[in-house]
Amino acid sequence: MNFIRNIYCVGRNYALHAKELNNEVPASPFLFSKPTHALAEANGSRIALPGDRGAVHFETELIVRIGKPYEQGMTVDELADAMAIGIDFTLRDVQDELKKKGYPWLLAKGFPNSAVVSPFFAFPGVERCKSINFALIKNGEEAQQGNITQMIFDLQTIVDFSARHFGLGEGDIIFTGTPAGVGPVADGDHLALLWDGNQVGECTVSLN
Ligand code: ZN
Repeated sequence: MNFIRNIYCVGRNYALHAKELNNEVPASPFLFSKPTHALAEANGSRIALPGDRGAVHFETELIVRIGKPYEQGMTVDELADAMAIGIDFTLRDVQDELKKKGYPWLLAKGFPNSAVVSPFFAFPGVERCKSINFALIKNGEEAQQGNITQMIFDLQTIVDFSARHFGLGEGDIIFTGTPAGVGPVADGDHLALLWDGNQVGECTVSLN
């Protein structure tokens, strides 16, 4: 895996997913971040996740990697040098408690192996991405499918927002939000990540 610096994640960026968790559709981008210790590559190996803190949900997401320092006016096509399909693993019961208290989501989103990424591959450009779906196959059955045209805030809005509020540069990656269909994983589940119908990453869940 190339060096990864910051991990930004977009919450509630697909209307149907916001609805399935009874969240309002946001009026401006809603971001959080994960520690780099959260990173794990979906290269076929087992991925250990917490089995003692309630439901662990998968959220399948398109990830863009930034290849150069952001300057105002730069397009996503100029900035992104690679992409991946990944999983923003979430401790859903913990997150529900944090939401009630108005606390940050770090405990629910930032645990080791919570940021799973397929091996990165060349970013084909925003226009091309609009005609390509990503998907998650769980134990041989499709669990989620998404397309960037369904995003509430598009990739350009997200990179501009990230740069303005947090800074954006080489090695930063952005999880761009999950479509509807999130759900829990169980010990031994096999997860395959698809881009354009082709498997680009896979892992087996180990809950302990
Ligand atoms: Zn997410």
